[in-house]
Order: sequence, then structure tokens, then C-alpha cells
Amino acid sequence: MNERDSEAVAAMLRARGYRIVHDEDECDILLLNTCSIRDLAEQKAIGKAGHLAARKRRQPEFVLGLLGCMAQNRGAALLDQLPDLDLIVGTQKFHRVPGYLDNLRAARAAGVPVGATIVDVAEEADSQNSIRDHVLADRQVTAFVSIQQGCNMDCTFCIVPKTRGDERSRPMDDIVAECRTLAQNGVREITLLGQIVTSYGRRDYAHAGGTTPFVQLLERLHEIDGLARLRFTSPHPRGFKQDLIAAYGRLPKLCPCVHLPLQSGSNRILRAMNRPYSRERYLELVAALRAVRPDMTFSTDIIVGFPDESEDDFAQTRELFAAVNYDMAYIFKYSVRSGTPAATLPGQVPEGIKEERNQVLLRMLEANSRRRNHALVGTVQEVLVEGPDRKGLRYMGRTPGNRTVHFAAEPRLIGELAPVHIARATTAALYGDLVPAGVES
Ligand code: SAM
Repeated sequence: MNERDSEAVAAMLRARGYRIVHDEDECDILLLNTCSIRDLAEQKAIGKAGHLAARKRRQPEFVLGLLGCMAQNRGAALLDQLPDLDLIVGTQKFHRVPGYLDNLRAARAAGVPVGATIVDVAEEADSQNSIRDHVLADRQVTAFVSIQQGCNMDCTFCIVPKTRGDERSRPMDDIVAECRTLAQNGVREITLLGQIVTSYGRRDYAHAGGTTPFVQLLERLHEIDGLARLRFTSPHPRGFKQDLIAAYGRLPKLCPCVHLPLQSGSNRILRAMNRPYSRERYLELVAALRAVRPDMTFSTDIIVGFPDESEDDFAQTRELFAAVNYDMAYIFKYSVRSGTPAATLPGQVPEGIKEERNQVLLRMLEANSRRRNHALVGTVQEVLVEGPDRKGLRYMGRTPGNRTVHFAAEPRLIGELAPVHIARATTAALYGDLVPAGVES
């Protein structure tokens, strides 16, 4: 989501005549878009900004701005640690950045002394609609589309409702138009983004014949010519009602790949987290989704070391983690976020225990990934060809289940769905050969 926000700001700046450079030593203006989800992310951003501030002292015309969640969370208080910042712009004000930069530069050009840092972290109605412009690379095949900002879930560990504000959805027509334009420009796969995408439009659109606004949106996007694949992240288990589960059976462009944040496998901890589902309900959802699409792959978010998480609670997480057989998981050590209800709960878990539990799940995940990737050796997978891989030695693409595949190909195949025979697997990726047209596997 932060990458998408940064891309939208870059597109707005480009439209004003700014040039985007890829080497920070070449730039006159540097904007750091920041994350607050865990303390580590904030510490990294402060370290980076502090380092850049030294350049500002050597080169006073250099402009340094801090955007996004951390700007929103800390506002002007950031100046205690980073007094040299020119801009502090929150999550509802990304679209103001070009105007602020124009003013700053005009004032400097006119020799007007520019004193105080610009701090704008106010709320702004409809700001969710400003994340819509793209900076498409040549022959770009995949794109992210923001459909919603904010979150109303109030999980006790999470700072997002504070940094991103209340849940606000973009108009469905605007999203459809944006996706159509992307498809006309060659994009074949779109990933819809939001904090809780499954809540999309619930206050703005009526349910139509038992269909939630989110599924209505999927149906409309499914109609777009040229689009081959649809994905979304991140949903909430609560959002998987019958209509969404059934959508996997009738919308072939919807990839059989679900990110289903679990957080904990213990009902006691789920309650303390204010997560409105149980481990039993979660397992029912996994089974229902697998019943509709037996090839469904799952990924998840887990927090280890939530306050008062006992060995028994963790054993239940471990057990559920093994039962679902995840393809991918983001495992987080609980990070105290000041101002959230969990920050002051008794029974804070020592860092050493969090690290141990983190390692246990990481080892299980690695074994899973290896096993599941090796199970695909000898099969033929449909791969959307994205372009040369990072090393530039082969091409890369992804399977519907979101596994990365490397293979030899030609530029004309970029954007095509191609059958690839899987010859070899590692934990992280698959390697194979294109199946020539007309050859049966
Ligand atoms: N849709 C998701 C859900 O159902 O909760 C929300 C995604 S959230 C923005 C990203 C992930 O960050 C969460 O799922 C959670 O695992 C993790 N996270 C949030 N707050 C955290 C904290 N205080 N410490 C560690 N991890 C945290």
C-alpha cells in the first residue's frame, strides 16, 4: 500500500514537470514514505532521515520530506528528532505534496526566507480518491489499485486506525475506469489494495441479491477486456461471506490465492486482540474455500508474543499453522504501539520468547514452501509472463497461486499467459521451460 501511495505521489509530481530519478544522490528533493505498523519500521525511517539531514546541512537547497503513516502518527513531534525536515505530510494529504513543493521552491527562488517546516496531518474528506495516478513502466504487466483507505476494525494491537483514519472507499465507477485504462495500457493483472478490502463500499452501496459491494466490484472488474487476473490484499476473515467464497467458483480471473490474516490460533488471544472470529471459524473458511477451489493457496499474517500469549496459546497457533499448510506467511513479533489498547496490557512477552516463537514458525514456513514447490516439479503451470528477472538471465512470471517461476522466453511473450513445465524447485521459486504451442504435457 505504501508503494502504491508513493507511486501516486510520483505520478502527480511528474504531471507537474518534476523528474523522478532512481538514485538518491541525483535528486534535489527526497520524500520518504513511511510505515508505523511496527516500531522497527519507524526506527529505520528515523535513521534514514537523520542520515539525509546531514546532506541537507551541506546542501541547504536540498528538500527533505517525510510522508505517510509515521508523519501522521507523530506530526510536528518528529521535529524533536529531525529538526531539518522541510515537509511532514500525513496519509490524507499525499495529493498536497506537489503544491507544497512548488511553494517551497518558488519562495526559495524569490529569495524569501523559508523558515518553519510544513506540517499537514489533518483529515481530508475524499482523500482516498487521490490515490489513482500510475507511473507505468514500459510493458508493465501487473499493477496495484487502491480501492479504500482507513480501517474501522479496532484490533487492540494495531495503529492503523490512527494513522490511516476511518474506513473510506473510492467510488466503484472510478475504480472500474482506472482498471480499464490500465488494461488498455497493457496491464494484465491487478491487485486491489485496502486495509480491509472485503469491507469495500459497505456504507456506500447496497447489497444486491445477497452480493456485497466488494463482490459487485470484483464482478465488474472481471468483465474488463484484456485483464487476465485479479487479486486483492488485504482482506479480513470476517469478510469471507458466502458470496465471496462462491465468487472463486464462478470468476475464473480471480486467482485461487487468498491472504487470510490469522494473527493467532488461540481463541483466548483472538478475543484479547478483538478479532471477531474463532480458530474453528477460520478453519471452516479455509475448508469452504478449498471446497470451491481445491488448488487454492493461502497466505497469512501472524503475530507472536502478543501480551499474555502462553506456551499453550502459541502451541495452538503452531497447530493451526501446520493444519492450513500456508504457502506464505508474514510473521511479526508483537510490537508495542503507543496509544493502542494492547500497549498497556499486563503480561508483555519478553523479546527472547517472541524471537523463539518467530523462528519456530519461520522454520515451519520454510519447510512448507520447499515441500509445496517440490510437489510442482513435473507439472505444467500457467504463468503470466512479467518480463526479465532481476538478474536479467531469464524471464519471470507467477502462477495463479502466486509462486514465482523463472524460465527462458522472448520479449514478445511479455504479458502472455504461457504454460511452463516445472523442472526444478527451491524454497523461494520454481524453474522451468515454456511448453511450445501445440505440445501436450
Ligand atoms: N487485513 C489485515 C487484518 O485482517 O488484520 C490488516 C493488515 S495490517 C495493516 C498488517 C499486519 O501487520 C497485520 O495483519 C498484523 O499481523 C501486523 N501488525 C499490526 N500491528 C502489529 C503490531 N503492533 N505488532 C506486530 N505486528 C502487527
